[in-house]
Amino acid sequence: MVVPYKHEPFTDFKVEENKLEFEKGLMVVQSYLNKNYDLVIGGERISTKDKIVSVNPANKQEVIGTVSKATQEHAEKAMNIADETFEVWRKSKPEMRADILFRASAIVRRRKHEFSALLVKEAGKPWNEADADTAEAIDFMEYYGRQMLSLKNGVKIESRPIEYNRFNYIPLGVGVIISPWNFAFAIMAGMTAAAVVSGNTVLLKPASTTPVVAAKFIEVLEEAGLPAGVVNYVPGSGAEVGDYLVDHPRTRFISFTGSRDVGVRIYERAAKVHEGQIWLKRVIAEMGGKDTVVVDSSADIELAAQSIVASAFGFSGQKCSACSRAVILEDVYDQVLDRAVQLTKNLSLGETISPSVYMGPVIDQAAFDKIMSYIEIGKKEGELVAGGHGDNSQGFFIEPTIFADVDENARLMKEEIFGPVVAFCKAKDFDHALKIANNTDYGLTGAVLTNNRAHIEKAREDFHVGNLYFNRGCTGAIVGYQPFGGFNMSGTDSKAGGPDYLLLHMQAKTTSEML
Ligand code: GLU
Repeated sequence: MVVPYKHEPFTDFKVEENKLEFEKGLMVVQSYLNKNYDLVIGGERISTKDKIVSVNPANKQEVIGTVSKATQEHAEKAMNIADETFEVWRKSKPEMRADILFRASAIVRRRKHEFSALLVKEAGKPWNEADADTAEAIDFMEYYGRQMLSLKNGVKIESRPIEYNRFNYIPLGVGVIISPWNFAFAIMAGMTAAAVVSGNTVLLKPASTTPVVAAKFIEVLEEAGLPAGVVNYVPGSGAEVGDYLVDHPRTRFISFTGSRDVGVRIYERAAKVHEGQIWLKRVIAEMGGKDTVVVDSSADIELAAQSIVASAFGFSGQKCSACSRAVILEDVYDQVLDRAVQLTKNLSLGETISPSVYMGPVIDQAAFDKIMSYIEIGKKEGELVAGGHGDNSQGFFIEPTIFADVDENARLMKEEIFGPVVAFCKAKDFDHALKIANNTDYGLTGAVLTNNRAHIEKAREDFHVGNLYFNRGCTGAIVGYQPFGGFNMSGTDSKAGGPDYLLLHMQAKTTSEML
């Protein structure tokens, strides 16, 4: 019997021993910086001339690794192998597939701080955020392994006396996994693990800014006994390899987490039926957010300010769940704003070389430019009350930034910035606050700080987001506890880390035998 699922605890870096262990992890990562990583297709290592160079966003000179870049020929080869392997893998025992995930999870747990240290280097994460990313990767493997065990015999249906009916879930086929850099380990591993434990084979195309952690995960899967060809590692450009795989007639499903633009592009392209294609592709898409923390008059002011700051600036606001709008009832607006500004001015920014650095860099030059351009827009749309400066001389650093008195329809209130910028907006009453909260194209996360029971119930019904939190911030969903996914332009509401997630990677088959 498998022990019941419990989420992986976070590391307390106030404990000296934990700090030392993490430093050891950093040293291990240091020892393998600047190595080469090949494509992995059917277990075969393939080195290409063209490379992706992964750098530390806090220190552009530091190369994390050099990764081979797949061409369309490689993608085609990987597709053929994944297709062949599927014929064997689809018949493998669900128990065995789950066991491989449990083993992989145990390997990662033993090397937990090394993986987190790699995220510090490759994604510029602060220690606590990196630790949470690795913990979530472990959680996804543990949770999906158990989910598969609970689904393996299908669901009970009725039978008449003359027949025996069964209802079982079977895998789909070859999936293309296009994973993001912001949870470079957790989401990449979670999307991959869900697909393969359900009996599918995949082509994994990790984000080009964080391909090394994905290469390390491939090694873990191999060590855990995953047969060659089940997961094929094909980093490459979206335009060359991404589109090619999305369009491919043998692609059965696409699992994507990333920007709205790319998600919509994938969704549209996947809808086209290509020659030789005998199915309608499935798309699982998690895209952006424009997430709101609402503060009611009855709220605990300190808790409200802390929740806004933590949700806005954790990992520099680079989460689709991040708070980028604080909507505050006018009678408590000044108090919450003042306290949030105070807290923000105390946050430290820099290369995350110790757990005391609160915020690191943003991911790359393009992100830096985009966020800085929104700061310029913000200066016209509101009052800059904290931060506002950026420095990309060594790494891509942007101060945690607050704009006050932003109009509910301003661009800063509507467009996803994906950086450490939060707009504060005043609401006349609670209904007005909810109206503002719902006035974007997105619907991912939201939080309401209130001590008014009627307002909690109202928000539960009318605040239209996939993940709604009361009296806490709007980031940090835990696998198995707060299944994660959003409405509208936030995606297909796939609810990663939830009881329905694996079903998105399977199809149901009814069999009926006459007795
Ligand atoms: N699941 C994460 C959270 O709850 C966010 C994931 C994302 O940014 O894609 O904060």
